Amino acid sequence: MERYPNKIKARNKANYYIKIPKGQMCERCKKRLAKQKHHEDYSKPLKVEFLCNQCHDKIEKAVS
Ligand SMILES: [Zn+2]
Repeated sequence: MERYPNKIKARNKANYYIKIPKGQMCERCKKRLAKQKHHEDYSKPLKVEFLCNQCHDKIEKAVS
């Protein structure tokens, strides 16, 4: 059972429509290359932040 269907849907949509631009820097630390897309709001699947692995990890841990 999937507990967060919106999250999955948002991810799938973003994966399909949004590509991380080449050379995109992380929007939080602005030091490392962005490797991840982060959704602030899963009801807005096309609104994402580009983040490095470290910043994304921090956010995910803070949420859960
Ligand atoms: Zn970062």
